[in-house]
Amino acid sequence: MANLNITSKKSRTYDAIVIGSGASGGWAAKELCDAGLKTLCLERGKNIKHIEDYPAASKAPFDFEFRGSLPLEKRSGLSVGRWLSETNVQWALEENEQEVVYEKPFRWFRGYHVGGKSLLWARQTQRWSDYDFEGPDRDGFAVDWPIRYKDLAPWYDHVETFAGISGNNDGLDVLPDGKFLPPIELNVVEKHFKASLKKHYGDSRHLIYARCAHITEPQEIHIQQGRAKCMAQNMCNRGCVLGGYFSSNSSTIPWALKTGNLTMRPDAVVESIIYDEEKGKASGVRIIDRLTGEPLEFYADIIFVNASTINSNAILLNSRSDRFPNGIGNDNGLMGKFLTWHNYRGNAGAVAPGFSHKKVEGKRPTNAYIPRFRNVEKQETDFLRGYAIGVSAGRGTGYDTSMIGEELTDSILNPKLNDEWYISTWMMGECVPYKDNHMRLHDELVDKYGIPRIVLSAEWKENDIKQADDYVEQCKEMFENAGFTNIRGANRNSLPGSDIHEMGGVRMGKDPKTSLLNKWNQLHECKNVFVTDGACMTSGGTQNPTLHFMALTARAANHAVDELKKRNL
Ligand SMILES: Cc1cc2nc3c(=O)[nH]c(=O)nc-3n(C[C@H](O)[C@H](O)[C@H](O)COP(=O)(O)OP(=O)(O)OC[C@H]3O[C@@H](n4cnc5c(N)ncnc54)[C@H](O)[C@@H]3O)c2cc1C
Repeated sequence: MANLNITSKKSRTYDAIVIGSGASGGWAAKELCDAGLKTLCLERGKNIKHIEDYPAASKAPFDFEFRGSLPLEKRSGLSVGRWLSETNVQWALEENEQEVVYEKPFRWFRGYHVGGKSLLWARQTQRWSDYDFEGPDRDGFAVDWPIRYKDLAPWYDHVETFAGISGNNDGLDVLPDGKFLPPIELNVVEKHFKASLKKHYGDSRHLIYARCAHITEPQEIHIQQGRAKCMAQNMCNRGCVLGGYFSSNSSTIPWALKTGNLTMRPDAVVESIIYDEEKGKASGVRIIDRLTGEPLEFYADIIFVNASTINSNAILLNSRSDRFPNGIGNDNGLMGKFLTWHNYRGNAGAVAPGFSHKKVEGKRPTNAYIPRFRNVEKQETDFLRGYAIGVSAGRGTGYDTSMIGEELTDSILNPKLNDEWYISTWMMGECVPYKDNHMRLHDELVDKYGIPRIVLSAEWKENDIKQADDYVEQCKEMFENAGFTNIRGANRNSLPGSDIHEMGGVRMGKDPKTSLLNKWNQLHECKNVFVTDGACMTSGGTQNPTLHFMALTARAANHAVDELKKRNL
């Protein structure tokens, strides 16, 4: 039974509650606190304090028992993604923390701690263009987005300026320019590939430096956050003591705490949102204390749901009341449906001969990028939408193991630069959302907190497979044109979800009959609940999505503050 004592109820009442402290929740907390709202941020995982709680941040390779790789036996019981290594195993989730029913094979990568996946991400931050916003309406899938690029552009500016995004203003319609810090240079093979694309495809394909959330030239706003220039150590996922890349831990959360308006409550597993039948709005949130098992309630005028796509869907579906027997705001029964993610099935690579006299100095925490070029102006293939391509070239080192004894030891201890450069690419395709790609709550099974288990039921569709085939074909052609050799490419039947960009289920739209959220990310049927993480996505675009979530969150939070002032919530 929840603790409903009246005095303590007052102490558990805030102006706003934010569920989740990851990339989007951090932004909600920052914007609401900046506006003077007393805000409670509920986070199911443990606290991770910037700098103090990065145990692996400054370790040398020889400080790791397995030199960085994680043997199979150490992975057992952990929810692993291909990114998990000995250097970032501290962020791994124990499988029994949240048991899930996978109706179809799916890989769900989670980060449950303060900061969420903002500590794990690859920091790629590309803006959407109107080609992405207009996609569903033009190509006849999902529903029309209720906003366009012009609605979000100022909020991209806002987020980029604060977070620190490095990049070039490339003047491309498909990838609008932004507020960027200086880029990190492309290397010699990437520059060669860029020139080759220009020569063979003119203005229809471009290779650019990928915009990414690294501070290359700190501005006053970054210094105020206590963050410094990225030193390109490439150890980002351990946590960066310099704050060289953006994470909630280095940026938004400490900023919000400094206002004095934020209360962080880690170890708080949100079970559901409380709906007040009399007032006709949400009044708070029910949690279970992860450490004691105690159920508790917290109250606020507005609630931001930022628990990451699948969890946000689950919390809303589990928020049942007389008014909303199928989950809060779910009158049309569409919540949990039209899940989408990104299509990373394809990868390709080749040897780039002729550059063995060239080398690179130091490391680089990012890569190059070819924005979407398929079906942009008109439908030109037998699949819908398109894909962007990540590109990275390098020379790398290797050692000869054909000898024995001291010679072998010497060879391993003194790796030599490979003779040839290698170029790799990976696709990032837009998966069209389908109704049967969905999640729901299990009717009987519950997790260790007594919360209904999530059932995930999602699979690749023919469109995704055709898209990946096309990517492989196009990469081979582009590599040949560039004079690369030993070309290979594969449409791998990788598990959906491995692509770590889950989206949808609580989509935005104009019509409450076909969507769940309005243009301000408010539930159509319960206006003081805002959903601004990936769950709100009507369609997925080809861009890495987090910048989009953060901009939508900042926009919605400022709208919430305005509405609260007008007493509309
Ligand atoms: C390896 C990797 C690389 C990536 N690279 C990129 C990239 O380059 N560019 C890009 O755009 N995106 C990238 N992503 C995706 C990016 O990390 C996510 O899109 C982003 O973090 C989502 O933000 P969020 O706030 O929705 O969720 P998260 O950052 O996951 O935060 C959600 C938070 O909510 C908490 N939570 C969950 N359930 C509950 C509950 N019931 N109660 C309370 N709290 C709860 C979680 O513990 C977590 O802290 C990458 C992800 C991974 C894993």
